Formats: sequence, structure tokens, C-alpha cells
Amino acid sequence: MTELEAVCLGMDEFEAIRLADLEGLYQEDAAKKMSVSRQTFGNIIESAHKKIAEAIVNGKALKIEGGVVEMIQRRFTCSDCKHEWSIPCGTARSEECPKCQSKNLHPAEGERGWARRSQGLGSGRCRRRS
Ligand SMILES: [Zn+2]
Repeated sequence: MTELEAVCLGMDEFEAIRLADLEGLYQEDAAKKMSVSRQTFGNIIESAHKKIAEAIVNGKALKIEGGVVEMIQRRFTCSDCKHEWSIPCGTARSEECPKCQSKNLHPAEGERGWARRSQGLGSGRCRRRS
């Protein structure tokens, strides 16, 4: 199976769609939640709608740029063997390295990266999405 051509949705566009289309907020309220002007929000959501339409009409895959994997997964690195792995958010935290059983773990870099990017979007990471 070959990989589909994909349309890439940015995190801001993804969030705009979620707020306006899924939660049904007025653009003005949604803009406030994202800490952007109403004008900017309008641009973001227009771009998002175009991308989604393109994906539907042309049968392309829709990908969310960055973020999502880090958002729903917690990543860990083993200090002893440098093994890196992810567990789905919401499950218990890893107690030991799946490779060498070391207990010398620390969260991988990506988690902090997402936390930084999510600032101003009004959404905590690891939140359950329904
Ligand atoms: Zn290890």
C-alpha cells in the first residue's frame, strides 16, 4: 500500500477547527481562546477549511502537523541505554525501561516542546478529546 498524498493541517488550524466547528464557538470567542485577533482567527480557519476541503475533494490524507503524537503520548528516554519510547497519555507512567529494565528514566524532549507550543491555545496537553 502506497502512502496517500497528504494535506498538512497546522496546530493553530486544528485548534481553530476544534473551537469553531466542533465546539461551535463564535469566531470572536474562539479567537480570544487562542489569543489571536478575530481577523487572524478568520484567516486561520479559512485556510483550515480550504485544506480540509482539498483533502475531501481530492481524496488526500489529512495530517496534523507536529503536536498530535506528542499530545497524546508521553515520551521517555532511558538514561542508561538511551532507548526512547512512548506510551499513550492516560496510562500509567513507565516505571522501567522496556529494553534494559533500568529505572533511570526521564521524560523525552518532545513533551516539553509540545507544552511550549500549546501556550496561548487555551488547551492543556494530554487532555482527552471526545
Ligand atoms: Zn534502558
